Amino acid sequence: MATRHRLTAQGAWLTATCLPLALAGCGIQEDSQTDGSADPPFTIRNVTGNLYEARTASHNAVFLATTDGIIVVDPLRADFAEWLEGELAARFDSEVEYVIYSHHHPDHAAGGQVFADTAIFVGHENTAARLESGLPSNAARSDADGNGTLERSEAAGGYLASFDSTDTDGDGSLSGSEINAGTQPLDVTYTEQMMLTLGDSTVELHHPSAAHSGDTTVVLFPNERAAFTVDFLHARRFPGTLSGYTVDEYEAALATVDALDFDILVTGHGNAGTKADVSGFLTLLRDLEADVMAGIAAGLDRETLQETILLADYSDWLLYEQRRANIVGEMYDTLSASE
Ligand SMILES: [Zn+2]
Repeated sequence: MATRHRLTAQGAWLTATCLPLALAGCGIQEDSQTDGSADPPFTIRNVTGNLYEARTASHNAVFLATTDGIIVVDPLRADFAEWLEGELAARFDSEVEYVIYSHHHPDHAAGGQVFADTAIFVGHENTAARLESGLPSNAARSDADGNGTLERSEAAGGYLASFDSTDTDGDGSLSGSEINAGTQPLDVTYTEQMMLTLGDSTVELHHPSAAHSGDTTVVLFPNERAAFTVDFLHARRFPGTLSGYTVDEYEAALATVDALDFDILVTGHGNAGTKADVSGFLTLLRDLEADVMAGIAAGLDRETLQETILLADYSDWLLYEQRRANIVGEMYDTLSASE
């Protein structure tokens, strides 16, 4: 038996016939697994209805459990995806039919190979292009010598932590193809927006303009009145980096989210929030920008601004202590470069 999936891209219905799957026993069960058998670093919580959030210690994915299978947004990493596959089978007696990528960065997009035998991989056309064209954008920003590969001295964060296992040819540098080898390529792409229907459920994919990366997909769950966004928007949480984008660029991207009709905001890191967190995040960026502009106008240097711009209104946000000075410095760099 073939399951029929409906994908709508920019108003045109596409019908994909795919993947013989057993449909029996795909009913949704309550989230009742409390026997402690789950791998402790990974957790699942119900967001609302059939929408769930699945987390590592640092990253969040979401999945929608429909009557005809599972839609996962972001597989995160191989060991997590393998764990999730087992949980979905145990809890829902169901398989993953679609994997959607929020963007191409491997700390969110990697690891989906475990779902490749049942799932169609969907993302923005820019995501497909990025996966085929050298270093991910968040690695390219660390490529200080601009040679298109990441040497160990240039690598940071997850790239440094996984350097030896990623450097499969052992030449002491990471190429785009080595990094992206852990990310399953996309099967289906879209340009502006796409609607995806599976069983009793629908999700919408929306592409905001560039901020954090140029290939972002926002996933809207209309029935659940929830949206999932990754890395360009956080709920009462400081970003690790602004990735060189201006506040105007963030505002344009956030406007795409703000135009959607939803109540619950789930993000790729930190805690879930509400739609009000969209404007809340933009307010942080505008306040940061204003403070740094005033400091530059007063002739203060980068280090002084990092010490004196305290953003006290946001001191209760996640990672305030760890990240405040860094984004002050980044804003100084961005505004100085645009002088
Ligand atoms: Zn990212």
